[in-house]
Amino acid sequence: MSAPKGDIGLIGLAVMGQNLILNAADHGYTVVAFNRTVSKVDHFLANEAKGKSIIGAHSVEELVANLKRPRRIILLVKAGAAVDAFIQSLLPHLEKGDIIIDGGNSHFPDTNRRFEELKEQGILFVGSGVSGGEEGARYGPSLMPGGHKDAWPHIKEIFQAIAAKSDGEPCCDWVGDAGAGHYVKMVHNGIEYGDMQLICEAYDLLKRVGGFEDKEISDIFAKWNKGVLDSFLIEISRDILKYNDTDGTPLVEKILDTAGQKGTGKWTAINALDLGMPVTLIGEAVFARCLSAIKSERTRASKVLGGPTIPKDAIKDKQAFVDELEQALYASKIISYAQGFMLIREAARDYKWDLNFPSIALMWRGGCIIRSVFLGEITAAYRQHPDLENLLFHPFFNNAITKAQSGWRSTVSKAVQYGVPTPAFSTALAFYDGYRSERLPANLLQAQRDYFGAHTFQVLPEAANDHLKVGSNI
Ligand code: NAP
Repeated sequence: MSAPKGDIGLIGLAVMGQNLILNAADHGYTVVAFNRTVSKVDHFLANEAKGKSIIGAHSVEELVANLKRPRRIILLVKAGAAVDAFIQSLLPHLEKGDIIIDGGNSHFPDTNRRFEELKEQGILFVGSGVSGGEEGARYGPSLMPGGHKDAWPHIKEIFQAIAAKSDGEPCCDWVGDAGAGHYVKMVHNGIEYGDMQLICEAYDLLKRVGGFEDKEISDIFAKWNKGVLDSFLIEISRDILKYNDTDGTPLVEKILDTAGQKGTGKWTAINALDLGMPVTLIGEAVFARCLSAIKSERTRASKVLGGPTIPKDAIKDKQAFVDELEQALYASKIISYAQGFMLIREAARDYKWDLNFPSIALMWRGGCIIRSVFLGEITAAYRQHPDLENLLFHPFFNNAITKAQSGWRSTVSKAVQYGVPTPAFSTALAFYDGYRSERLPANLLQAQRDYFGAHTFQVLPEAANDHLKVGSNI
């Protein structure tokens, strides 16, 4: 048999897999493709893959036989049992030093487990976050690989070639050990939940309090997209709001207001609770989707639960209202990213991962749903101070939030005054005020815990005396 030609193998010919294969082929790599339903391999070869450096395999054995050593195989299949099933079917055909990469949305504890199991067998396992959907996979995704570090020199070139570029730099770098790649992808998705919720709250306030029409809101977003909020999500919201149905009215107003979710935001919020990190904005964004989902109950509640009515002329100076809202959105977004990075930092400590913070921000800078100009500032901040304790301590973000503060407070006040729910804006502000408070009312809380549960408390150093010592009971 002649020497194998395949540079990389890919299993999973659904939307992500097909597009990633075409992307790699465009960059000069020969890709060997396989899929559980084998007829899809032939269909792909005869259509999308026609004329490209793509080899079809009709079994796992054939896939492996067509790959150069060490073999590099990407799985882009449904997360969960399918990943384990393919790993098991590949193992008898692989050798020590071969590389399996799971590019699906796997939960990081599964990646940790697979990493350990495969390490024992001499297989280098990588769990890689892949973001950017179909378009990203085809023309440049954000790639967040982590796992067995010995795999990185063998996959770096191809990963960085096919990844999105930001100012010429690839949005892909080594994240860290074991499940770190999938962990960072999970937090990315959580932040995406937060960004989307913030934009939805801005839209709601503009509509219900500001009295703006959808087309006007689209124009406001278009303007914001030229400033500090320049991002993919603002851009698509601008386009969505000006899109009319065939009857000439905005299509978005005909969409049922119940949000779905696939679970990565929830994973982030649960992990934040597990690690004791106050990642409140992502948590509120997940709960906001849950609240939206109980539509029929909300409909009943809307008939019986009262609240303020919003006068038509609630806002006298509309431009000032819009400017304050822009500040509120910017400040809340800074808090959300600060919280996300707090969580990643804690995970690095807790799971003993050596993480590359400037690269994480750079990986999100392009190719993914949360891509924005703002992430360039975060990359710069971490490049300047890789050990930055919190994004809010960096002068750029400290100044930004100071400047945005009055507009932020005014926006949240108006939302409360007029009864418009802004869980993400409000929790961001509450977090900020809590974070900057040297003293919080947890002293009373500790006393309460001690009173009913003899949990004891610690005493401020300056207040300690013979009667009041660490461990006193009330
Ligand atoms: P998908 O719908 O999640 O999965 C379909 C693929 O998985 C098909 O190749 C299917 O094979 C295979 N599969 C499903 N169950 C299987 C099983 N029990 N055993 C073996 N193979 C099985 O595909 P996708 O949307 O392209 O996503 C692929 C991965 O990337 C997923 O983990 C997804 O969460 C992640 N991801 C998706 C996006 C996106 O925008 N779609 C973005 C980022 C990451 P058959 O053809 O034989 O059914």
